[in-house]
Amino acid sequence: MTPVLHLRGPVLVGPDEPAPEAWIVGGRITFERPSGDTTTVDGWVVPGLVDAHCHIGLDAHGAVDDATSEAQALADRDAGALLLRDAGSAADTRWVDDRDDLPRLVRAGRHIARPKRYVRNFADEVEPDELVRTVRRQAARGDGWVKLVGDWIDRDTGDLAPCWPAEVLRPAMDAAHEAGARVTAHCFSEDSLADLVEAGIDCIEHATGLDERTLPLLAERGVAIVPTLINIETFPGIADAAAGKFPAYAAHMRALHERRHATVGAAYDAGLPIYAGTDAGGALAHGRIVDEVRELARAGLPAVEALSAASWSARAWLGRDGLVEGASADLLVLDADPREDLRVLHDPRAVVLRGVRRAGRWS
Ligand SMILES: [Zn+2]
Repeated sequence: MTPVLHLRGPVLVGPDEPAPEAWIVGGRITFERPSGDTTTVDGWVVPGLVDAHCHIGLDAHGAVDDATSEAQALADRDAGALLLRDAGSAADTRWVDDRDDLPRLVRAGRHIARPKRYVRNFADEVEPDELVRTVRRQAARGDGWVKLVGDWIDRDTGDLAPCWPAEVLRPAMDAAHEAGARVTAHCFSEDSLADLVEAGIDCIEHATGLDERTLPLLAERGVAIVPTLINIETFPGIADAAAGKFPAYAAHMRALHERRHATVGAAYDAGLPIYAGTDAGGALAHGRIVDEVRELARAGLPAVEALSAASWSARAWLGRDGLVEGASADLLVLDADPREDLRVLHDPRAVVLRGVRRAGRWS
């Protein structure tokens, strides 16, 4: 039998008022002292981190094999990300759900994009008249999310441009919601946001184009954003590569990059729900959730809010348990209070998934 683990806290069950201690019995959290022998672990306890935007089963060229998907999931797990919102994958990763040693996945099916208006081999590519049907198809493949590509470079105009006419968006959102799925969209530019929000979208990925026109609209509708700041860091490189052929696009990408922290800071000030996502799996490596949390803090979120964007509030948003009585013991044990210094998240004493220590220094 697995020994009962005594977590001699503090246990950060929420952003404030920690519980003094907790126990892990049969893989689950309890706040009632069990009888019998226990093994004690000291340290600050936080819920397993959430990467709210990554891709398992995808690399820069499209779907990858299962061994590569496994390595991606393990890299996330070992960095403390124990709940992943997969924002679109071309691979079938259902088998991950049967593996106790891999993070939990909340999938968005496959990206839905216009033909030739996204990375090749990533998306279910359709014209606008097929959008509603495709949304239904991908809602059935996912775990409660559908992912649209909201804008991308239009090679005819040489700049970012919305992918979908406004009139097809409302029926698409309605179809997803009827199927019990929320909808999110990849949006870099300013122009794609208003139509998507007016149509009833639930979340915007990247959201670099948020401005004074659209920010109040998102705030009013309670639309969440997942800024993926460590991915936005790649914009200058994308701009350099594109500058010869598409100078307007390159300049646009540079401008969005330059104001990225101000954009996220303004979103925070406006009260938008903000969640931490790395966008690992397309071009970026997995296992960088703490880098993203720290970037959110650099953009102006107080440390506790940046942490919450990858823990308490992110779990609630995805409808998953945090550190509550009877919940699966998915947690990190840390040297110090992460609300005081986010850097302690980089080197956890223990990463515990389903009650089993899977990584960290403590053994
Ligand atoms: Zn992505």
